[in-house]
Amino acid sequence: RPSIVWFRDDLRLADNPALRAAIDRGEPIVALYVLDEESPGVRALGGAARWWLHHSLASLGDRLRERGATLVLRRGPAERIVRELAVDASAGAVFWNRRYGGPEREIDTVLKTGLREEGVDVASFTGSLLFEPWTVKTGAGTHFSVFTPFWRACLALPSPRAPLPEPREVDGLRGGVASASLEDWELLPRHPDWAGGLRDTWEPGEPAARRRLREFLEDDLAAYDRARDEPAAGATSLLSPRLRWGEVSPFTVWHETVEAGHGGRFLSELGWREFAWHTLFHFPELATKNLRSEFDTFPWPRLKRAHLEAWQQGRTGVPLVDAGMNELWATGYMHNRVRMVAASFLVKNLLIDWRRGEEWFWDTLVDADEANNPFNWQWVAGSGADAAPYFRIFNPQVQAKKFDADGHYVREWAPASLSDDGPEPLVDLGETRAAALAAYEHVKRAA
Ligand code: FAD
Repeated sequence: RPSIVWFRDDLRLADNPALRAAIDRGEPIVALYVLDEESPGVRALGGAARWWLHHSLASLGDRLRERGATLVLRRGPAERIVRELAVDASAGAVFWNRRYGGPEREIDTVLKTGLREEGVDVASFTGSLLFEPWTVKTGAGTHFSVFTPFWRACLALPSPRAPLPEPREVDGLRGGVASASLEDWELLPRHPDWAGGLRDTWEPGEPAARRRLREFLEDDLAAYDRARDEPAAGATSLLSPRLRWGEVSPFTVWHETVEAGHGGRFLSELGWREFAWHTLFHFPELATKNLRSEFDTFPWPRLKRAHLEAWQQGRTGVPLVDAGMNELWATGYMHNRVRMVAASFLVKNLLIDWRRGEEWFWDTLVDADEANNPFNWQWVAGSGADAAPYFRIFNPQVQAKKFDADGHYVREWAPASLSDDGPEPLVDLGETRAAALAAYEHVKRAA
């Protein structure tokens, strides 16, 4: 009886423990991906994410075919789809790598029980996080809310396991299992086709992800600590969408970085990724609810839609913010320093609820994920775990002087803002800062 490998956020062959388990079981394999836009609570993918997913699935499908298997595509509520396929294919086993969002865990738990009752062997594996959330605990047995002790506790655990090698052959089940066509899913934009900048910037898929990792370790890692905060330096790994979609595993990144040396700072950024996911695991409502409930009292003014749109479209008149928002729209990516500045401007100068910004990033980032995006928005807003204090308000002009001193980044992404007749700032930075601090007094009183 065949084994089903259910691919989710792990669109790769190398270091894929679920795939490895299926190969070791020795029966023919059905490789499955389910596009689930129906299960309650599962967040529908944003536009940029759908673009990436299309290409990454195409690449995975090709790689499986070269090795002897087909990628079966099905659409619908995952629990029903996987159970139906298990029956259709007379599967004896279903394997997957774990996911950590609330609704996804619920689906996986129900499925596991249901399939086992039907005599199907089910096993899940660690593939997307270096440390399982339930293994990292404070002395008192609770989960961490501050990064530094969290990461220290992770590093005190046994080191992340070595990555598994890429299989040369995957013995696919021959015939009999219907698949949707990727084109029919219409994940790519058509009218208008806004993805030109994404095509120019990215090559989704496992081979490109592995190439980028090697290139980063050889060419950029040594300068990472010094230059990682400068958006024009090109000093960061650009691995975020690859990690988001699991085209490269964090175990591979970890071990290759350790072998390359000088990786402490870079590895601690992977630590922030772990911290965000562990936070989501313990607080599944991260995208909609303030982690620190005293922020529920924050008196958000009525939404000024024109301000939100100016921010989305890079028309705030603040050069570094507009440059970031333009980079995001064009490429589906924004440098981390600029994400912080653009997010801070939305929340603390435009006084717009962080959730509106989170939703925009969700739709436009190729690396948008359920944990990192809301976690970082809450970090900037001050309502999150180990967050920047609300009263520390980034000044986008000072940030530009510090991190884009020669103006390369702004010249590339918002050249108009540098000319004498460039746009006026939408709001006065000083006045809005004072208004934000006054509003924050409510939170302080509630704390
Ligand atoms: P590098 O500096 O090379 O870092 C390596 C890896 O570490 C990244 O690929 C990422 O997986 C992880 N990492 C780095 N910084 C962070 C961080 N602050 N939090 C969590 N993980 C981190 N990152 C996402 O992957 N998805 C998101 O949806 C996302 N939304 C964000 C929203 C806001 C408002 C902010 C301020 C940050 C957000 N980040 C998000 C974090 C960070 O900006 C990106 O991970 C980083 O810019 C990706 O570029 P890189 O791969 O070159 O990073």
